[in-house]
Amino acid sequence: SYEPLERPHFCSLLRDLIDIMIKSAASRYIPQRNTSSGSLHRLSQGNFGMVTLYMYDPANDGTGELVAVKSLKQENGPLPKYWLKEIETLKFFDHTNIVKYKGCCTEMGGQVVQLIMEFLPFGSLEKYLQKQEKSTSQCLLFAQQICQGMEYLHSKRYIHRDLAARNILVKNDSLVKIADFGLSKYIPENDTYYRVSEDGDSPVFWYALECLKLNKFSFRSDVWSFGVTLYEILTRCDPSQKMNVNVLISLLERWQRLPCPADCPSEVTNIMTSILEL
Ligand code: ADP
Ligand code: MG
Repeated sequence: SYEPLERPHFCSLLRDLIDIMIKSAASRYIPQRNTSSGSLHRLSQGNFGMVTLYMYDPANDGTGELVAVKSLKQENGPLPKYWLKEIETLKFFDHTNIVKYKGCCTEMGGQVVQLIMEFLPFGSLEKYLQKQEKSTSQCLLFAQQICQGMEYLHSKRYIHRDLAARNILVKNDSLVKIADFGLSKYIPENDTYYRVSEDGDSPVFWYALECLKLNKFSFRSDVWSFGVTLYEILTRCDPSQKMNVNVLISLLERWQRLPCPADCPSEVTNIMTSILEL
């Protein structure tokens, strides 16, 4: 009898179709020049680090996969501890809604360490929502997935401390993952919060009052940041709706200024007022 054994199952077809979809979404990033294992595209350039898209294809036969590689900007001196911690933290997690760690790569005798993770072809949720029109129910699905990822993170006693739409990555139209564990901290069993001592660029608009006033970060302060993220998602990350420098600009344009100090001589008040003209 004739047995069509070569014919694929639906599950592998589905996998292939998803692969094609992802690669075609990724192809807009890939320049024409065909390099098998070289750097392909810069995905982001932050203050301290950058994320680059690579084709990892050790066999050099086109069977490779796209990965995102995060590295710190080259600086002299030892590798900062927080960076190694970010890598170690991500390595430890295993959840559908948390970006997958794939490996790390050390160069120049340990002077350069890069974090390799799965590539999420649609980039950050912030950019994604700004570009494409999404229904409220899809937004709520994303919110639900962020919740699931955060629940897992907290169950491992980690707090994220930088939950925001820019740090959520989009895998496809129905899957998002939490990324950027640069500020995350482990909360020991008997503690309920972490007190931050280092300064740095803090995402203050996403911080709860206890974070701003007391530098105290807890599981509950992540919940606050989630609230702000939810607001971002439901406003589709519209920059004009965001409490950010644009809002500050509009306050200044509407003539809102710091109040005059109580014991300030009127001459000095006049000077300040004249300086703070538009
Ligand atoms: P930073 O510490 O500089 O904020 P992030 O980890 O938040 O770095 O990454 C910055 C940006 O790089 C993200 O907003 C996203 O646009 C892009 N990016 C990061 N990781 C990935 C990834 N795995 N796949 C696709 N894009 C990514
Ligand atoms: Mg980030």
